[in-house]
Amino acid sequence: MHNIDLDLIEMTLDVMKYAIGRITDKNPELGFPKKAEELQELVGETITPKGIGGENAFKLFRDVLMKASVSIDHPRHLAFVPASPTRAAVMFDLVTSASSVHGAFWLEGAGCIFAENQAMKWLVSLTGLPNGAFGVFTSGGTEANLSAMVTARENWRSQDESRKHTRGIIISAISAHSSVRAMAKVIDADVLSVPTEDRFEAWQLQQKLDSLTPEDRKRVFAVIATGGTTNAGIIDDLDGIAEICKRQNLWFHVDAAYGGGALAARSVRHLFKGIENADSVTIDPHKWLFSPYDCGAVIYKNPDLAKAAHSQEGSYLDIFSDEGAQGFNPSDYQIQLTRRVRGLPLWFSLAMHGTERYEQAIERGIELAKHAGKMIQVSKHTQLVREPSLSCVLFRRLGWSAEDYRNWTYKNHKAGYALVAPTKVRQGNEFETVARFCFINPDTTEKDIRGILDTMI
Ligand SMILES: *Cc1c(COP(=O)(O)O)cnc(C)c1O
Repeated sequence: MHNIDLDLIEMTLDVMKYAIGRITDKNPELGFPKKAEELQELVGETITPKGIGGENAFKLFRDVLMKASVSIDHPRHLAFVPASPTRAAVMFDLVTSASSVHGAFWLEGAGCIFAENQAMKWLVSLTGLPNGAFGVFTSGGTEANLSAMVTARENWRSQDESRKHTRGIIISAISAHSSVRAMAKVIDADVLSVPTEDRFEAWQLQQKLDSLTPEDRKRVFAVIATGGTTNAGIIDDLDGIAEICKRQNLWFHVDAAYGGGALAARSVRHLFKGIENADSVTIDPHKWLFSPYDCGAVIYKNPDLAKAAHSQEGSYLDIFSDEGAQGFNPSDYQIQLTRRVRGLPLWFSLAMHGTERYEQAIERGIELAKHAGKMIQVSKHTQLVREPSLSCVLFRRLGWSAEDYRNWTYKNHKAGYALVAPTKVRQGNEFETVARFCFINPDTTEKDIRGILDTMI
């Protein structure tokens, strides 16, 4: 690997040139998917015994493959939960890879894990969790939720031998993210859903608990509330739910994968009251904290419980818990062993810009949602479904069917103009298709919003 030849140097320069160009481009091409057969036609077989050469492979990437992939940081990409990694963080993602550091154990990654932990300390401070609370960076919100559920379940079982073979129950609302139900399958637990797409309130949790048979009631080990629902940006009654969980000795997890960034925004921080009483919290820096994919985080009030649930044992791993290697091993607190130090790009960007810049950028997303709300209200074609919440805006184009929304999405996307997708909201027993904006990118402008709304006329 160390005989660097000229071709390699040239290819490296090409790649770096592309990366720098892309990092500094505020208006990247939006990108539109092609069918696999089409791509096969255009690209051919790239994996061959002799290789097709870096230049060829890179050309295919740049001219075909990337054009068939969406740039999620496009300022008019307002679908799903977009992303907008800072230039500093993207640059440092390259450095993180180039540095080849194993991020599971202090023995190998001490310096980088130390830096990750400084960024984590700031995240923990945003939650207001008590001293001793700490967390680790994960591949995303799904893994963070899973790691928290495993910890909750193991802790519950450790309190009573008879629970060893009992299938647990988690209570959440139907507005909770799909990963909650998916990860409950992984740990073979049941999820009971409170039927609300609006704010999940404490009395609804109490009602659910009261409705259970004594047998089922004994199986409940955790409650999951959402700090910013993915569809509508709604923050559940964290304070009231926390209180019930405390009284009834239930693990309280707050999934703030999307909304967690807003903990840094003074204008909305009060809405999260109660999060400081959580047993665990999920926050995705790759959503509203401007980190490149993939970077989630799970935070525990008592990290020792996570360690008891997650630390792996094996003769070849003994050295990592040896005294000489003493330090914080990220692998002890979530399900992944070998990991990149994926918190490093966030660390570098935070260190460079300072936390105030983050607060401003997050407030900008909230402000854009408010602006959009006003524009939607004054137009006679459109109507708000509900007041904007955090950076999510749900609205309808009067007179449109589900089909109309679908066509509108494809038309804007195909034209390379915008990616804005419809969603569904429950109206009684029916589902209504509506339009949705989610703002993350602080470079999105009022003009962008106006332009997109004009495509609905
Ligand atoms: C996005 C999201 C998740 C899943 O996170 P990934 O990073 O996609 O795994 C979980 N919960 C909520 C509330 C989310 O918005």
